[in-house]
Amino acid sequence: MKVLVINAGSSSLKYQLLDTNTREVLAKGLCERIGIDGKFTYKAPGKATVDAADVTMPTHAEAIQAVLAALVNPQNGVISSMSEIEAVGHRVVHGGETFACSVKIDEKVMAALEENIPLAPLHNPANITGIKACTAVMGPGVPQVGVFDTAFHQTMPPVAYTYALPYEYYEKDKVRRYGFHGTSHRYVTQRAADMLGKPIESLKLISCHLGNGSSIAAVSGGRSVDTSMGFTPLAGLPMGTRSGDIDAGVMEYLMNKYGMDIKEMLNVLNKKSGVQGVSGVSSDFRDLCAAAEQGNQRAALALDMFSYGVKKYIGAYAAAMGGVDAIIFTAGVGENDAQQRMAIASGLEFMGVKMDPDANNVRGKEAIISAIDSKVKVLLIPTNEELMIALDTAELA
Ligand code: AMP
Repeated sequence: MKVLVINAGSSSLKYQLLDTNTREVLAKGLCERIGIDGKFTYKAPGKATVDAADVTMPTHAEAIQAVLAALVNPQNGVISSMSEIEAVGHRVVHGGETFACSVKIDEKVMAALEENIPLAPLHNPANITGIKACTAVMGPGVPQVGVFDTAFHQTMPPVAYTYALPYEYYEKDKVRRYGFHGTSHRYVTQRAADMLGKPIESLKLISCHLGNGSSIAAVSGGRSVDTSMGFTPLAGLPMGTRSGDIDAGVMEYLMNKYGMDIKEMLNVLNKKSGVQGVSGVSSDFRDLCAAAEQGNQRAALALDMFSYGVKKYIGAYAAAMGGVDAIIFTAGVGENDAQQRMAIASGLEFMGVKMDPDANNVRGKEAIISAIDSKVKVLLIPTNEELMIALDTAELA
Protein backbone atom coordinates (compact mmCIF):
# COMPACT_ATOMS: atom_id res chain seq x y z
CA MET A 1 0.00 0.00 0.00
CA LYS A 2 1.22 3.52 -0.77
CA VAL A 3 1.01 5.62 2.38
CA LEU A 4 1.78 9.31 2.76
CA VAL A 5 3.34 10.03 6.15
CA ILE A 6 2.98 13.57 7.47
CA ASN A 7 4.73 15.23 10.39
CA ALA A 8 3.20 18.70 10.68
CA GLY A 9 4.77 21.44 12.78
CA SER A 10 3.44 24.94 13.32
CA SER A 11 5.16 26.33 10.21
CA SER A 12 6.59 23.17 8.66
CA LEU A 13 5.46 19.86 7.23
CA LYS A 14 7.72 16.85 6.71
CA TYR A 15 6.45 14.19 4.33
CA GLN A 16 7.36 10.74 3.02
CA LEU A 17 5.57 8.54 0.53
CA LEU A 18 6.23 4.90 1.40
CA ASP A 19 5.28 1.59 -0.13
CA THR A 20 4.45 -0.59 2.87
CA ASN A 21 4.79 -3.83 0.87
CA THR A 22 8.38 -3.19 -0.17
CA ARG A 23 9.11 -0.79 2.77
CA GLU A 24 10.64 1.52 0.18
CA VAL A 25 10.64 5.31 0.49
CA LEU A 26 9.30 6.52 -2.88
CA ALA A 27 9.77 10.23 -2.18
CA LYS A 28 10.28 12.57 0.72
CA GLY A 29 10.80 16.21 1.55
CA LEU A 30 9.93 19.20 3.61
CA CYS A 31 7.69 22.27 3.43
CA GLU A 32 9.11 25.05 5.59
CA ARG A 33 8.20 28.61 6.46
CA ILE A 34 4.49 27.95 5.85
CA GLY A 35 2.66 31.27 6.20
CA ILE A 36 5.96 33.14 5.74
CA ASP A 37 7.92 32.84 2.49
CA GLY A 38 7.36 29.13 1.72
CA LYS A 39 10.33 26.77 1.10
CA PHE A 40 9.78 23.42 -0.54
CA THR A 41 12.08 20.43 -0.98
CA TYR A 42 11.40 17.11 -2.70
CA LYS A 43 13.64 14.09 -3.23
CA ALA A 44 12.90 10.81 -4.98
CA PRO A 45 15.56 8.17 -5.72
CA GLY A 46 16.87 8.54 -9.27
CA LYS A 47 14.83 11.67 -10.02
CA ALA A 48 15.65 15.38 -10.15
CA THR A 49 15.33 16.97 -6.72
CA VAL A 50 13.40 20.17 -6.02
CA ASP A 51 14.68 22.85 -3.67
CA ALA A 52 12.48 25.89 -4.15
CA ALA A 53 12.22 29.17 -2.28
CA ASP A 54 9.35 31.66 -2.24
CA VAL A 55 6.66 29.04 -2.87
CA THR A 56 3.19 30.40 -2.11
CA MET A 57 2.13 28.50 1.01
CA PRO A 58 -0.07 30.67 3.19
CA THR A 59 -1.43 27.61 5.05
CA HIS A 60 -0.79 23.88 5.48
CA ALA A 61 -3.41 23.18 2.78
CA GLU A 62 -1.22 24.79 0.09
CA ALA A 63 1.75 22.87 1.49
CA ILE A 64 -0.13 19.56 1.02
CA GLN A 65 -1.12 20.70 -2.46
CA ALA A 66 2.55 21.35 -3.28
CA VAL A 67 3.47 17.87 -1.99
CA LEU A 68 0.79 16.18 -4.10
CA ALA A 69 1.71 18.22 -7.18
CA ALA A 70 5.35 17.11 -6.80
CA LEU A 71 4.39 13.45 -6.29
CA VAL A 72 2.33 13.37 -9.53
CA ASN A 73 4.66 15.61 -11.56
CA PRO A 74 5.19 13.88 -14.96
CA GLN A 75 8.96 14.66 -14.93
CA ASN A 76 10.14 13.69 -11.48
CA GLY A 77 7.00 12.43 -9.71
CA VAL A 78 6.58 8.87 -8.46
CA ILE A 79 2.85 8.23 -8.92
CA SER A 80 0.54 8.92 -11.83
CA SER A 81 -2.40 10.18 -9.83
CA MET A 82 -3.29 11.15 -6.29
CA SER A 83 -5.69 8.20 -6.10
CA GLU A 84 -2.63 5.90 -5.77
CA ILE A 85 -2.19 7.24 -2.21
CA GLU A 86 -4.38 4.86 -0.27
CA ALA A 87 -3.97 6.35 3.19
CA VAL A 88 -2.27 9.11 5.18
CA GLY A 89 -0.47 8.54 8.49
CA HIS A 90 0.12 11.47 10.84
CA ARG A 91 2.66 11.80 13.59
CA VAL A 92 0.78 13.25 16.56
CA VAL A 93 2.81 14.34 19.56
CA HIS A 94 0.42 13.93 22.46
CA GLY A 95 -2.30 11.34 22.84
CA GLY A 96 -2.68 11.92 26.59
CA GLU A 97 -4.31 9.00 28.37
CA THR A 98 -6.86 8.72 25.56
CA PHE A 99 -4.69 6.90 23.03
CA ALA A 100 -2.64 3.82 23.93
CA CYS A 101 -2.20 2.85 20.27
CA SER A 102 -2.55 4.29 16.78
CA VAL A 103 -6.10 5.06 15.59
CA LYS A 104 -8.02 5.71 12.41
CA ILE A 105 -9.09 9.34 12.51
CA ASP A 106 -12.79 10.18 12.66
CA GLU A 107 -14.79 12.99 14.22
CA LYS A 108 -14.59 11.46 17.69
CA VAL A 109 -10.80 11.15 17.44
CA MET A 110 -10.53 14.77 16.24
CA ALA A 111 -12.55 15.89 19.28
CA ALA A 112 -10.24 13.89 21.57
CA LEU A 113 -7.19 15.45 19.89
CA GLU A 114 -8.63 18.90 20.54
CA GLU A 115 -9.20 17.93 24.18
CA ASN A 116 -5.54 17.00 24.51
CA ILE A 117 -4.29 20.38 23.22
CA PRO A 118 -3.61 21.73 26.74
CA LEU A 119 -1.11 18.86 27.24
CA ALA A 120 0.91 19.87 24.15
CA PRO A 121 -0.10 23.44 23.30
CA LEU A 122 2.69 23.92 20.76
CA HIS A 123 2.58 20.58 18.94
CA ASN A 124 -0.95 19.18 18.89
CA PRO A 125 -2.59 22.19 17.17
CA ALA A 126 -0.06 21.84 14.33
CA ASN A 127 -0.78 18.11 14.03
CA ILE A 128 -4.53 18.85 13.92
CA THR A 129 -3.93 21.49 11.24
CA GLY A 130 -2.04 18.88 9.18
CA ILE A 131 -4.93 16.41 9.43
CA LYS A 132 -7.51 19.05 8.48
CA ALA A 133 -5.38 20.19 5.54
CA CYS A 134 -5.20 16.60 4.20
CA THR A 135 -8.97 16.20 4.53
CA ALA A 136 -9.52 19.50 2.72
CA VAL A 137 -7.14 18.73 -0.14
CA MET A 138 -7.45 14.95 -0.53
CA GLY A 139 -11.12 14.62 0.44
CA PRO A 140 -12.74 12.72 3.29
CA GLY A 141 -12.55 9.43 1.34
CA VAL A 142 -8.81 8.94 1.97
CA PRO A 143 -8.39 7.24 5.36
CA GLN A 144 -6.11 8.97 7.85
CA VAL A 145 -4.43 7.45 10.89
CA GLY A 146 -2.93 9.15 13.96
CA VAL A 147 0.26 7.68 15.46
CA PHE A 148 1.15 9.14 18.84
CA ASP A 149 4.57 9.80 20.38
CA THR A 150 3.09 9.05 23.79
CA ALA A 151 1.03 5.92 23.00
CA PHE A 152 3.75 3.29 23.46
CA HIS A 153 4.38 4.48 27.02
CA GLN A 154 0.76 4.11 28.10
CA THR A 155 1.68 0.64 29.40
CA MET A 156 3.80 2.19 32.18
CA PRO A 157 2.54 1.23 35.64
CA PRO A 158 1.35 3.96 38.06
CA VAL A 159 4.54 3.54 40.11
CA ALA A 160 6.51 4.80 37.08
CA TYR A 161 4.16 7.48 35.79
CA THR A 162 2.85 9.10 38.98
CA TYR A 163 4.56 12.28 40.17
CA ALA A 164 4.97 12.79 43.90
CA LEU A 165 2.63 15.80 43.84
CA PRO A 166 -0.78 16.18 45.49
CA TYR A 167 -2.75 13.36 43.85
CA GLU A 168 -5.55 15.64 42.68
CA TYR A 169 -3.17 17.16 40.09
CA TYR A 170 -3.17 13.75 38.44
CA GLU A 171 -6.88 13.06 38.93
CA LYS A 172 -8.15 16.50 37.94
CA ASP A 173 -5.41 17.85 35.69
CA LYS A 174 -3.79 14.71 34.20
CA VAL A 175 -0.35 15.76 35.41
CA ARG A 176 1.80 12.60 35.16
CA ARG A 177 4.70 11.16 33.20
CA TYR A 178 3.66 10.48 29.59
CA GLY A 179 6.98 10.01 27.81
CA PHE A 180 7.74 10.69 24.14
CA HIS A 181 9.67 9.16 21.20
CA GLY A 182 7.30 6.18 21.64
CA THR A 183 7.17 5.35 17.92
CA SER A 184 10.96 5.23 17.80
CA HIS A 185 11.29 3.11 20.97
CA ARG A 186 8.62 0.72 19.62
CA TYR A 187 10.35 0.39 16.24
CA VAL A 188 13.86 -0.24 17.56
CA THR A 189 12.75 -2.68 20.26
CA GLN A 190 10.85 -4.72 17.65
CA ARG A 191 13.91 -4.71 15.40
CA ALA A 192 16.08 -5.72 18.37
CA ALA A 193 13.93 -8.80 18.95
CA ASP A 194 14.28 -9.66 15.22
CA MET A 195 18.05 -9.17 15.32
CA LEU A 196 18.40 -11.30 18.46
CA GLY A 197 16.06 -13.94 17.02
CA LYS A 198 14.00 -14.00 20.22
CA PRO A 199 10.32 -13.23 20.88
CA ILE A 200 10.00 -9.69 22.20
CA GLU A 201 7.79 -11.06 25.02
CA SER A 202 10.89 -12.76 26.46
CA LEU A 203 13.20 -9.72 26.39
CA LYS A 204 14.18 -6.94 28.77
CA LEU A 205 15.44 -4.06 26.65
CA ILE A 206 16.78 -0.56 27.29
CA SER A 207 16.24 1.71 24.31
CA CYS A 208 18.44 4.83 24.15
CA HIS A 209 17.06 7.38 21.65
CA LEU A 210 19.90 9.91 21.66
CA GLY A 211 19.48 12.82 19.28
CA ASN A 212 18.88 16.50 19.59
CA GLY A 213 16.10 15.42 21.95
CA SER A 214 16.97 12.31 23.94
CA SER A 215 15.01 9.77 25.91
CA ILE A 216 15.52 6.30 27.31
CA ALA A 217 12.87 3.63 27.70
CA ALA A 218 12.76 0.43 29.73
CA VAL A 219 10.87 -2.11 27.63
CA SER A 220 9.99 -5.41 29.26
CA GLY A 221 8.18 -8.05 27.22
CA GLY A 222 7.56 -5.50 24.46
CA ARG A 223 5.85 -3.06 26.84
CA SER A 224 7.28 0.28 27.94
CA VAL A 225 7.55 0.15 31.74
CA ASP A 226 9.42 3.41 32.30
CA THR A 227 10.88 6.29 30.33
CA SER A 228 12.97 9.36 31.01
CA MET A 229 10.84 12.12 29.47
CA GLY A 230 7.87 13.19 31.51
CA PHE A 231 4.80 15.40 31.33
CA THR A 232 6.71 17.25 28.61
CA PRO A 233 9.83 16.40 26.54
CA LEU A 234 11.89 18.67 28.81
CA ALA A 235 12.49 15.96 31.41
CA GLY A 236 15.17 13.31 31.79
CA LEU A 237 18.59 13.55 30.17
CA PRO A 238 20.44 16.75 29.35
CA MET A 239 19.81 17.21 25.61
CA GLY A 240 20.98 19.46 22.76
CA THR A 241 19.47 22.59 24.28
CA ARG A 242 17.09 21.18 26.95
CA SER A 243 18.15 20.94 30.58
CA GLY A 244 16.56 17.58 31.38
CA ASP A 245 15.83 17.02 35.07
CA ILE A 246 16.75 19.84 37.42
CA ASP A 247 15.72 20.77 40.95
CA ALA A 248 12.53 22.85 40.49
CA GLY A 249 13.84 25.14 43.25
CA VAL A 250 16.45 26.45 40.78
CA MET A 251 13.65 28.07 38.83
CA GLU A 252 12.43 30.18 41.74
CA TYR A 253 16.00 31.20 42.58
CA LEU A 254 16.87 32.31 39.03
CA MET A 255 13.51 33.93 38.34
CA ASN A 256 13.82 36.04 41.48
CA LYS A 257 17.46 36.89 40.89
CA TYR A 258 17.10 37.89 37.22
CA GLY A 259 13.47 39.07 37.18
CA MET A 260 12.48 36.40 34.67
CA ASP A 261 8.86 35.36 34.24
CA ILE A 262 7.96 31.69 33.78
CA LYS A 263 8.00 32.00 29.98
CA GLU A 264 11.55 33.36 30.01
CA MET A 265 12.62 30.68 32.48
CA LEU A 266 11.19 27.92 30.31
CA ASN A 267 12.88 29.42 27.29
CA VAL A 268 16.20 29.08 29.13
CA LEU A 269 15.41 25.47 30.10
CA ASN A 270 14.23 24.46 26.62
CA LYS A 271 16.42 26.48 24.28
CA LYS A 272 19.57 27.61 26.11
CA SER A 273 20.47 24.68 28.33
CA GLY A 274 21.62 21.09 27.77
CA VAL A 275 25.02 20.47 26.18
CA GLN A 276 24.72 23.85 24.41
CA GLY A 277 24.27 25.68 27.70
CA VAL A 278 27.06 23.86 29.53
CA SER A 279 29.59 24.04 26.68
CA GLY A 280 28.71 27.48 25.29
CA VAL A 281 29.85 25.93 21.99
CA SER A 282 26.99 24.11 20.24
CA SER A 283 24.10 21.70 20.64
CA ASP A 284 25.61 19.49 17.95
CA PHE A 285 27.73 16.61 19.22
CA ARG A 286 30.07 16.85 16.21
CA ASP A 287 31.01 20.43 17.19
CA LEU A 288 31.39 19.40 20.83
CA CYS A 289 33.74 16.51 19.97
CA ALA A 290 35.85 18.82 17.81
CA ALA A 291 35.99 21.47 20.55
CA ALA A 292 36.80 18.91 23.25
CA GLU A 293 39.62 17.51 21.12
CA GLN A 294 41.08 21.01 20.92
CA GLY A 295 41.06 21.21 24.72
CA ASN A 296 37.76 22.98 25.38
CA GLN A 297 37.01 21.90 28.97
CA ARG A 298 33.36 22.89 28.96
CA ALA A 299 32.68 20.95 25.75
CA ALA A 300 34.37 17.93 27.35
CA LEU A 301 32.26 18.41 30.49
CA ALA A 302 29.03 18.59 28.46
CA LEU A 303 29.90 15.35 26.65
CA ASP A 304 30.82 13.64 29.92
CA MET A 305 27.59 14.82 31.56
CA PHE A 306 25.61 13.36 28.69
CA SER A 307 27.24 9.91 28.77
CA TYR A 308 27.08 9.89 32.58
CA GLY A 309 23.35 10.70 32.43
CA VAL A 310 22.66 7.87 29.98
CA LYS A 311 24.75 5.44 32.04
CA LYS A 312 22.73 6.28 35.18
CA TYR A 313 19.44 5.60 33.39
CA ILE A 314 20.75 2.26 32.09
CA GLY A 315 21.63 1.24 35.63
CA ALA A 316 18.29 2.44 36.95
CA TYR A 317 16.24 0.68 34.29
CA ALA A 318 18.19 -2.58 34.63
CA ALA A 319 17.30 -2.42 38.33
CA ALA A 320 13.67 -1.54 37.56
CA MET A 321 13.30 -4.53 35.22
CA GLY A 322 15.40 -6.93 37.31
CA GLY A 323 17.93 -7.33 34.50
CA VAL A 324 18.56 -6.40 30.89
CA ASP A 325 19.14 -8.55 27.79
CA ALA A 326 20.10 -5.79 25.37
CA ILE A 327 20.82 -2.07 25.19
CA ILE A 328 19.86 -0.29 21.97
CA PHE A 329 21.39 2.92 20.60
CA THR A 330 19.43 4.96 18.07
CA ALA A 331 18.86 8.51 16.65
CA GLY A 332 21.49 11.06 15.54
CA VAL A 333 23.97 10.65 18.38
CA GLY A 334 23.18 6.99 19.13
CA GLU A 335 23.59 5.98 15.49
CA ASN A 336 26.66 8.04 14.64
CA ASP A 337 28.75 8.79 17.68
CA ALA A 338 30.94 5.77 18.48
CA GLN A 339 32.79 7.70 21.20
CA GLN A 340 29.59 8.47 23.12
CA ARG A 341 28.45 4.84 22.85
CA MET A 342 31.80 3.69 24.22
CA ALA A 343 31.76 6.25 27.04
CA ILE A 344 28.23 5.21 28.01
CA ALA A 345 29.02 1.49 28.04
CA SER A 346 32.35 1.79 29.82
CA GLY A 347 32.02 0.95 33.49
CA LEU A 348 28.99 -1.24 32.87
CA GLU A 349 31.11 -4.40 32.70
CA PHE A 350 29.93 -5.25 36.25
CA MET A 351 26.43 -5.84 34.87
CA GLY A 352 27.57 -7.90 31.89
CA VAL A 353 28.13 -5.24 29.21
CA LYS A 354 31.29 -5.79 27.15
CA MET A 355 31.75 -3.71 24.02
CA ASP A 356 33.63 -4.78 20.89
CA PRO A 357 35.55 -1.60 19.90
CA ASP A 358 35.93 -2.76 16.28
CA ALA A 359 32.26 -3.63 15.91
CA ASN A 360 31.40 -0.28 17.53
CA ASN A 361 33.32 1.52 14.79
CA VAL A 362 30.19 1.77 12.65
CA ARG A 363 27.66 4.46 11.71
CA GLY A 364 24.02 4.44 10.79
CA LYS A 365 23.44 0.76 10.14
CA GLU A 366 22.11 -2.15 12.14
CA ALA A 367 24.89 -3.89 14.02
CA ILE A 368 25.67 -5.83 17.18
CA ILE A 369 28.42 -3.77 18.78
CA SER A 370 29.03 -5.80 21.95
CA ALA A 371 31.65 -8.55 22.23
CA ILE A 372 30.57 -12.08 21.38
CA ASP A 373 30.82 -13.09 25.05
CA SER A 374 28.94 -10.01 26.34
CA LYS A 375 26.08 -11.18 28.57
CA VAL A 376 24.12 -8.04 27.67
CA LYS A 377 23.99 -7.42 23.93
CA VAL A 378 24.51 -3.87 22.68
CA LEU A 379 22.80 -3.01 19.41
CA LEU A 380 22.94 -0.10 16.99
CA ILE A 381 19.57 0.23 15.25
CA PRO A 382 18.78 3.25 13.04
CA THR A 383 15.30 4.42 13.96
CA ASN A 384 12.56 4.66 11.36
CA GLU A 385 9.51 6.40 12.79
CA GLU A 386 8.06 7.05 9.32
CA LEU A 387 8.06 3.33 8.47
CA MET A 388 6.37 2.52 11.78
CA ILE A 389 3.73 5.20 11.09
CA ALA A 390 3.20 3.86 7.56
CA LEU A 391 2.86 0.25 8.77
CA ASP A 392 0.34 1.23 11.47
CA THR A 393 -1.55 3.26 8.87
CA ALA A 394 -1.68 0.39 6.38
CA GLU A 395 -2.99 -1.88 9.13
CA LEU A 396 -5.73 0.47 10.34
CA ALA A 397 -6.81 2.26 7.13
P1 AMP B 1 18.36 13.71 15.64
O1 AMP B 1 17.64 14.63 16.60
O2 AMP B 1 18.09 12.27 15.90
O3 AMP B 1 18.19 14.09 14.20
O4 AMP B 1 19.92 13.89 15.97
C1 AMP B 1 20.59 15.08 15.62
C2 AMP B 1 21.90 15.14 16.37
O5 AMP B 1 22.69 13.98 16.10
C3 AMP B 1 22.78 16.30 15.95
O6 AMP B 1 22.44 17.48 16.61
C4 AMP B 1 24.15 15.81 16.37
O7 AMP B 1 24.39 16.20 17.69
C5 AMP B 1 24.06 14.31 16.30
N1 AMP B 1 24.88 13.75 15.22
C6 AMP B 1 24.56 13.59 13.93
N2 AMP B 1 25.60 13.06 13.24
C7 AMP B 1 26.61 12.87 14.12
C8 AMP B 1 27.95 12.37 14.06
N3 AMP B 1 28.47 11.93 12.91
N4 AMP B 1 28.68 12.35 15.19
C9 AMP B 1 28.16 12.80 16.35
N5 AMP B 1 26.92 13.27 16.48
C10 AMP B 1 26.15 13.31 15.40
